Parts: sequence; structure tokens; C-alpha cells
Amino acid sequence: MRDSITRSLLFLFASALVVSAVANRLSKPNGMTTQARTNADPNPLLTNWEGPYGGVPPFDRVQIALFKPALESAMMENLMEVEKIANDSSAPTFENTIVAMERAGQTLDRVSTIYSVWGSTMAGPEFQAVQREMAPKLAAFSDKITQNEALFKRIEAVYNSPNKKKLNAEQQRVVWLDYTNFVRSGAKLNQADKAGLSQINQQLAGLFTKFSQNVLAEEDGQFIALKTDADLTGLPQSVRDAAAAAATTRKQEGWLISNTRSSVDPFLTYSDRRDLREKVWRMFIMRGDNGDEHDNNSTITQILQLRAERAKLLGFPTHAHWRLENSMAKTPERAMELMLAVWKPAVARVHEEVADMQALADKEGAKIKIEPWDYRYYAERVRKAKYDLDQNEVKPYLQLEKLREGIFWVAGELFNFKFTLATNVPVAHPDIRVWQVMDKTSGKQIGLWYFDPYARAGKRSGAWMNAYRTQERVNGEITTIVSNNANFVKGKPGEPLLISWDDATTMFHEFGHALHGLNSNVTYPSLSGTAVARDYVEFPSQLMEHWLSTPEVLNKFAVHYQTGKPIPQELVDKIKRSATFNEGFITVEYLAAALLDMKLHMAGDRKIDPRAFEKEALAELGMPHEIVLRHRLPQFMHVFSSDSYSAGYYSYLWADVITADAFGAFTEAGGPYDKKVAERLRKNIFSVGNTIDPAEAYRNFRGRDPKVEALMKKRGFTS
Ligand SMILES: [Zn+2]
Repeated sequence: MRDSITRSLLFLFASALVVSAVANRLSKPNGMTTQARTNADPNPLLTNWEGPYGGVPPFDRVQIALFKPALESAMMENLMEVEKIANDSSAPTFENTIVAMERAGQTLDRVSTIYSVWGSTMAGPEFQAVQREMAPKLAAFSDKITQNEALFKRIEAVYNSPNKKKLNAEQQRVVWLDYTNFVRSGAKLNQADKAGLSQINQQLAGLFTKFSQNVLAEEDGQFIALKTDADLTGLPQSVRDAAAAAATTRKQEGWLISNTRSSVDPFLTYSDRRDLREKVWRMFIMRGDNGDEHDNNSTITQILQLRAERAKLLGFPTHAHWRLENSMAKTPERAMELMLAVWKPAVARVHEEVADMQALADKEGAKIKIEPWDYRYYAERVRKAKYDLDQNEVKPYLQLEKLREGIFWVAGELFNFKFTLATNVPVAHPDIRVWQVMDKTSGKQIGLWYFDPYARAGKRSGAWMNAYRTQERVNGEITTIVSNNANFVKGKPGEPLLISWDDATTMFHEFGHALHGLNSNVTYPSLSGTAVARDYVEFPSQLMEHWLSTPEVLNKFAVHYQTGKPIPQELVDKIKRSATFNEGFITVEYLAAALLDMKLHMAGDRKIDPRAFEKEALAELGMPHEIVLRHRLPQFMHVFSSDSYSAGYYSYLWADVITADAFGAFTEAGGPYDKKVAERLRKNIFSVGNTIDPAEAYRNFRGRDPKVEALMKKRGFTS
């Protein structure tokens, strides 16, 4: 991930999930748009999308009360479609079974796309009540399809048919995927076990919702008020402004630090007030662990037990083994092996970093021992002393909107895309803007890109990509729709929003996911775009981060917000020299969380007390006392808000090995804009979706398997 010249910022990727409307493919054997629904239907969530670009989501017509009836009606419709396929009297064929399933579920796809957008960006109390009610119902619905015996028999027949060999590679892949997913979801179990499995899935869905809503409640509800100028000591103007804006939003006097990462991290980096740093740090790391009504500990215990039980039912030793079966890593043991190989040198680096910080503190006569709430603060000062690099010097060159133009330009160079603002598309909130994407040469319509950059109440923290309509050809040509979402604190009106180097990297990262969706060139919706293995999906996005620091982008788009002058070479050189600075911290805080995620899900069915487990596992690993997990268990949304990143947080590291190795293809060929390598990248990686095994796709691009050396070098763990 990232580039050869900036320090690698694993924690960004760690918080940057990719959310795909098709992530839940299995529960929505889907398709897209041919469904001829009458638009006289009174519920606008159910109708075909109307308007320009082959129809767009009716975000302007959403009312919370419409979600439940829309979801229920769409699920019903989908079940009827599935019944029809399952009970077809003709012999099962690829066309009447697999393709028919690809075409089914279009209404539900449309409804659940808007439902998931509301869930992640507009989740007020009224909506949360709907979520609590619908989560178990959606889980039960999904099981009804995967447990449909007649349907599975037909899929199995196609899978085992000698005619399968006559299908093309993509067709064979979709048959394999359907069959495997059904088996993995319990299609081969007896009736009693199927019922048990469905019970577990419904209970889990309820617990996931509870877990997320608890974290959101503590992020929304808690803050530390700063009352006097003395409380602001050390904070740069931008952090003061953001704290003042946060106070205004909550109708408070003065300034306040919200309980979110985008608020907490800058405070911990700059505040001279050690007492307040500790207070803010404690608030943040205790989310979900305060022994009150939002405490997540018992929820975690229940989730882990249910997952262990489910894995056993499905014939796997642990949840981790079940989750990794179709990943690139294949087994938890292989993922652990990679993590532990990186862990040791990373911890050694942390000890060096702490020694540097302690020396600085001692020299200043601070009379302290470095504690976790001191880490970011002293790291920043060591950076200044060692590399003469002040992050606040970089910021005036990083304007959000200029960088957005920069990523558009990169997409133009690598993929021949052109972006034009589209003003005729309804949005969920006035802050959201939409661009249409075309091929620069042919003018062919490719897709739409929605951009939702600012934090607001009801929006979950972090940054992510979402697919609203995935590319496919089963239903004819369609316009792909994707979005990027972030949580920038809105600046003063009329002034350009300045962001940090880290945030700029995240922007390129998320845009990488968007490009992965937009470049998709497949036939079957199940295989489209970002619907790839969890430990592979972060590769295209992490790769894109490299282009931020190319001279072409910096000279044209990293320009001073007042003078318009490009970022000075001297400053860029400083960034380059400090590329691996603080890499020990970044790697260890992430990797400790990834290791715990895997250990938890390899622990089998013994009852787990999250607090004790965290303590013991970290002691066993030799976790440096000065660092806390990037996500402590009671707030580990990746792992406990759904199954998708469970036993999967290692994916960021796994994908980073590939990323570091892949960028080498460009450097070896002469540079990041080499047309031939870019074409190879499009052809073998960005356009193929899940039509091919990822390891094979990578070999087609690189000519060999990825090597871990490039990653170790990038993080400065080798000499
Ligand atoms: Zn990502």
C-alpha cells in the first residue's frame, strides 16, 4: 500500500472499510434491472430507478417509514422468484438456474442499497429502530434461500454436470461460486441443523446491530469539553477551529473533543496538556467498555459462542477456518504466519521509537515515563526534531477539492476516465455531490461517482466505498454507480478545507475502491467489481495510494491554498526521508488487533471474557506497554458489526504484501504512469472482479507470485 516515499499508514486502511451493496451476494442472489415493476407503486423504494443515467437511486424520496414495507415486499418478491427457479419442471441448466438466479432479486437489491446507505450515513434513532427490527428478518430471509433444497439440488446438478466443461471460464467460476457459497451456508445440512443454523444467524444479526449501535451511541454521546484557552495549549489553529465547530454543533460554549478518531487523534498529537491527553485517550479507548447500557462485552461473548457453534455445524474446526476457506490466504495458519513474521521486527522498532521519545522528554526535563497518551504527541515532536518535518507545514498544500481533482486526473492517466459534475441527480444530503464518469476517448458512459465527504450525526466514522449499482451484462449495458464516503470536519464556509497527508492518502485509497468498481468488465453480477476475496479487495485501493506522492500530482494539485504555489520540493524530500518514521507504532497497533481477531476466532467454543482475553493475549504477544490496540474489542466494528471482516482484519496486511510488490511493476518499467503497465493492471486486476482466482490474476499481471520483501522494505523493517 501507499508509496515508496510516504510512510505507510496502515491505520488508515484499517479504518477504511469497503462496503459493497453486493457484499451480501449470497443472501441476495441478485441481478439488476430488467424487472418490469410498475412505477405506479406507491412505495418509491420499490420502483425502478428513474431519471438520467439509466435511472438513479431516489434518495430524495426516502422516508424512514418506507423501509420496512419495502424490504418486506422485496424479500417476498425475491422468494417468489427463487421458488420459480427451484420448481422449474425442465432439467437444470446453467441458463435456467445459475443465470436465472443472477437475474433475480433486483428489487431487493435496489431497496437494500438505499437501506445500507441510510444505515451508514443517516442512522438517526428512528432508523435505528427499523434496523433492530429488520436485521434478524433479513438474516432469516437469506437462510430461506440458501436452505432451499430444490434450488440447491439444481445448482448441484449444474455444478456436477459434464456440460460444465463447455461453459466459458467466467461461467464456470460463477457456477463454482454459487455451489460453494450454498454449501458454506449449510445447504448440505439436515433439516434440524438447518433450522439451528438459521437461529444462530438471526441471533447474530441482532447482536451485530446492538454492537454497532452501542459504539455509535458512545461516539455520538460522549465528549470532553475544553473551557479555557489554557485547555487549548499546543493545538494548531485547524484543530481549534474543528473543536469550536464541534461545540457549536452541540450547542455548547467553547470547544470540545468528540469521541471519534478524527477528533481524538489530532488532539493527542498536539495538545501540550498531558492531563487532558490522558482524559481524551481514556474516553476513546473505553468506547463500549464502560459497564453501562452501551457496554459491548457480553455481546462479544455471545457473538463468539454463536460463531464457534455455527462453524462446528458447518464442519469447520473454528470460525476462522470457515471464514478463510475461500480467501487468498486459505487458512488462518497461513495468515498468522505472515502476521507473526512482521510482528517481531515491528515490536523491535517500537522499542527504538519509545527510546527516542523518552530521550526527548528527559532532555526537556519532563520527568515522565512515556505512556500510551504520550505516544502521538512525542512521536510528532521526534519527527520534527529528526526530519524537520512539521505536519502543519504540509497541510496548507492539501486542499480537499484540489486533491479530488488530482485523483480524477490520475484516473484519466491510468484508465482513460473523465469526470464531469452531474447536477441532475438526487442525493440523500445536500453535502453530497455526484460526478458522471466517461471514457475520455470514446465518450462512452461508464458510471456515476457519489462523494459524501463530511462528518455528521448518524454517520459512522472512518472512510469507505459503497457500490450502489454494480457493472454486469446479464441485463444489458448499465451505468455503474459507486460512492466514496469520509468524515472530514467541515471547514469555515467559503474557505478551502485543508486536510492532512494521512487523510489525503485515505482519499486515494477509497478512490481506488471506486475505480475497482468503475473498471469492472464482467458478465455476471455476482462476480462484479469489488466482490472479491476479503484479503484481496484492499489491494487495488492500497495500490492507488502510491499515486498521491507522484511529482505529477504534487506539482499540479498539492498547491498552497493562498499562493497557489506547488508544495516545495524540499518539503516533499522531507516527507520522503521520514517515510518509515513511526512505522513501528503504526504496524503494532494494527497488527495486535489483527492478531487478536484471529486468535479469538481460532479459540473454538470456550466461553470468552473479552477483557481477560485481551489482557492475556497481548501479554503473550509481548505487546509494548506504550501502545493500545487500534480497535479494542468492545469497539472493534470490523469484527463485531457483521461477519465480513471477522477473522479478516489481517486482510490489510495480506493485501499490502501484494500492493508493495505490485507497485514494483511500475517502478521497474520506468514510472507510475507507464501506459503498458497501467493497461496490464486494468486488464488483469481492476476489470476482472471475481471472474478469476486472485492468485492467478496477480500472476497474469506480475508474471510471478508476490514476494514479502517489498513490504518489509517499505516499512523500514529491513536494512
Ligand atoms: Zn479499503
